[in-house]
Amino acid sequence: MKAPILEISYLIASVSFVIGLKRMSNAKTARNGNLLAAAGMTIAILATIILHEGPVPPLIYGLIGLALLLGSVLGWFTARKVAMTKMPELVSLFNGMGGACAALISLIEYPHISPGAGILISVLAGLMIGTVSFSGSMIAFAKLNGTLGKAIRLPFYNIINSLMLVAMLVLCGLMLWDAEFNNMINLYILLGMSVVYGILFVIPIGGADMPVVISLLNSFTGLAAAFGGFLYGNKAMLTGGILVGSAGTLLTIVMCKAMNRPLSNVIFGAFGGGSGSGSSDGSEKGSIKDISVGDLAVLMNYSKKVIIVPGYGLAVAQAQHVIHEIEELLESRGVEVKYAIHPVAGRMPGHMNVLLAESNVDYGKLAEMEEVNPEFASTNVVLVVGANDVVNPAARNDTSSPIYGMPILDVDHAEHVIVNKRSMNAGYAGIDNALFYDPKTSMLFGDAKKVLTELATELKSL
Ligand code: NDP
Repeated sequence: MKAPILEISYLIASVSFVIGLKRMSNAKTARNGNLLAAAGMTIAILATIILHEGPVPPLIYGLIGLALLLGSVLGWFTARKVAMTKMPELVSLFNGMGGACAALISLIEYPHISPGAGILISVLAGLMIGTVSFSGSMIAFAKLNGTLGKAIRLPFYNIINSLMLVAMLVLCGLMLWDAEFNNMINLYILLGMSVVYGILFVIPIGGADMPVVISLLNSFTGLAAAFGGFLYGNKAMLTGGILVGSAGTLLTIVMCKAMNRPLSNVIFGAFGGGSGSGSSDGSEKGSIKDISVGDLAVLMNYSKKVIIVPGYGLAVAQAQHVIHEIEELLESRGVEVKYAIHPVAGRMPGHMNVLLAESNVDYGKLAEMEEVNPEFASTNVVLVVGANDVVNPAARNDTSSPIYGMPILDVDHAEHVIVNKRSMNAGYAGIDNALFYDPKTSMLFGDAKKVLTELATELKSL
């Protein structure tokens, strides 16, 4: 009787994952979708514990309870505390834990499977992919939080990495097809090689590409979990793993597309590693001019159309509420206001949408890149807040630039461009921006929240 109920619980869990994921594609339903998927996962976990066939010693229940408690408390507090801009770091950490879990399952189950069983493929694949995902995610985490600064490249790193991967696959092949090699020592050797490969795989990749790498590693973890599901014949784990695997792969492709770079270029290329022309060494020519808050308030107040371009800086400064206030002030004076959303603005896909939704900006005011680009020519003022790479014209006209080919927001087509940032420092890609030297551009230096608060006060006084 237990088995059918267990199967039904897994089915309910799987369906909740699919519906939850679907609901996450819209900011309005995302929170609800997340809760639904979490509820499905809770059902799957509880059903597994309660409806498990065969005797389970009380100590095991105690350990499971302790693990659930620790995981829930730690997960809850970290997720509540984390700043939106630190989200990729948190994702890499959680993802690494998922990979480690998948690898542990393989390590624990290996001695219990009958020799020569086809299931061995799942065990080895789960161990290899899960471990690579774990060690790779830890390096990605260290890079994102600045502990590991630069891209570290061993000489011939591509060849070394490829040889390492081939060696791991050969060892897997030997363990699968030759009983003599199928032993615990070789399993530990495979584990060690996978740890090293994960490190070698991520360490040469530049910091700017970490979000893409994390998404790729996320798909690895999903795959490793799916192998675990296959091993246990657990459908919820299998569906969950496959969904994470495919969602991670799709996200990786979307990010690469938005940056107009093939994945191979992210993994083997030099972007974000400091090479390429136009680096932020001040070599970019030309002079800049700045604008006072008072002058900007007047300029905007008497404009017909204003487009706001939010970027990473708006997110770090937490200026989403005050920008919404400015938008409302301008609208009340008859100015048409829109937000131009670049697909990779900020540090994760949808970053700007989530941020602006937080301050109740009307969704209808957010315009996607393709839709808004033709509108800049008829715009009086573009206010770029803490965005840099996504408005860098080098992507359009400098073939030697590392971001050449990345679609950008054509803000330089507008009548006036105002750029708010704290200094002349580069953005994530580490390159200078000719937009700042454009005669149409005026710089508004300062922290976004501080400067925009002053701007709102000025606007109110007009
Ligand atoms: P950028 O990282 O290019 O620029 C952000 C700018 O914000 C900086 O130049 C910085 O200048 C400024 N800034 C920082 N803090 C503040 C503050 N408190 N107030 C005002 N300004 C501030 O951001 P974009 O959003 O333009 O571009 C995103 C980048 O991230 C792209 O290179 C993209 O490829 C990359 N990326 C994004 C992904 C995503 O999914 N969103 C995924 C992968 C990569 P200063 O220090 O002078 O203030």
